[in-house]
Amino acid sequence: MSTEIPLSKPDITDAEIDAVVAVLRSGRLALGPVTEAFEAAVAVRTGRRHAVACSSGTAGLHMAMIALGVGPGDEVITTPFSFVASANCILFVGAKPVFVDIDPRTLNMDPARVEAAITPRTKAIVGVEAFGNPAHMDAYRSIAARHEIPLIEDCCEGLGGVWRDRQIGSFGRVGVFGFYPNKQITTGEGGMVVTDDDRLADLCRSLRNQGRPSNQGGHGAGSWLAHERLGYNFRLSDINGALGVAQMRRLDEILARRREVADRYMVRLMDHRDLILPTIEPDTLMSWFVFVLRLSDRYTSEERDRIIAGMRRHEIGASNYFPCIHLQPFYRKQFGFSPGDFPVAESVSARTIALPFHNGLTAAEQDIVTQTLSLMISRENLLR
Ligand SMILES: *Cc1c(COP(=O)(O)O)cnc(C)c1O
Repeated sequence: MSTEIPLSKPDITDAEIDAVVAVLRSGRLALGPVTEAFEAAVAVRTGRRHAVACSSGTAGLHMAMIALGVGPGDEVITTPFSFVASANCILFVGAKPVFVDIDPRTLNMDPARVEAAITPRTKAIVGVEAFGNPAHMDAYRSIAARHEIPLIEDCCEGLGGVWRDRQIGSFGRVGVFGFYPNKQITTGEGGMVVTDDDRLADLCRSLRNQGRPSNQGGHGAGSWLAHERLGYNFRLSDINGALGVAQMRRLDEILARRREVADRYMVRLMDHRDLILPTIEPDTLMSWFVFVLRLSDRYTSEERDRIIAGMRRHEIGASNYFPCIHLQPFYRKQFGFSPGDFPVAESVSARTIALPFHNGLTAAEQDIVTQTLSLMISRENLLR
């Protein structure tokens, strides 16, 4: 359905359009020098030695799992409160996702529960910066170090965020970004694996490119037909890479605008007694991916759903980020999960409302959003 004020919207300027047209005119469309430039920009920004572009965040997570040798019989700890790809990547390699419940304030995994979930079979931890919040990443990092297992950072929602002097994407042995059009920056579709580990980076370069030797960027040197391992076609094209280069140049401007929009929502909604706003820990610079607040505990998920439906009737693109992964039909069927398994995540997930959030959102539009939200909440209160 078309909405007057959409949930999200990519920020594409003439710079992005010109960059794509230049690639089209160059005649070199697939993986090439423009994507290499995009990789270099992300590596510099996140302070990592290597960045390997790929076709999606999901593909990047999949490669990270393979490169780290995760496989059948292994357990991998992750959060139930995320986009489904952060758990699916564990299933792609035949390992078992072990969900742990979240901290109700930060919405990231509760570090004490992560520690408690470690067994001799635990092969890795997938930490997710929910909605761009780096909270507890450092704790996961020390738990992983203590148990000599890798932390994989699913930082698909967090490009540009900082905790103390650490960029989001620099906590894990491997970090994975995603560039779907609702993310902070977009390449249409795309992803990026970042790491300081030469061997892992080489492996990912090979895995994304049909198992070819990792130095084979293009069609040179005759080894285009040499396949050293089972590989995939997870390459990013230079058409997409061009978008990435142009968006990375504008990253600070984009993040600043998103911060402004988030601050305006905060100011307008902080006194609303029925709403719980995002919690930002000290020393944290959020990278705002979406603006998700939640109703107080006295509301049910049915009431939340009606509030969202009411906003949509007024052509405001609100949504329920995220339904819990363990309660997705596939996970229930496959693993027998049921309501009550992860009560904190379920309680949060039942009451969240994602408000329209993008760089171009005006103060006037935000007024309409917050007024409509308040109206729909009052309406539910009258119906009680
Ligand atoms: C967006 C996202 C991904 C990757 O999504 P793709 O559409 O495959 O790029 C992975 N994990 C999380 C938490 C995400 O938000």
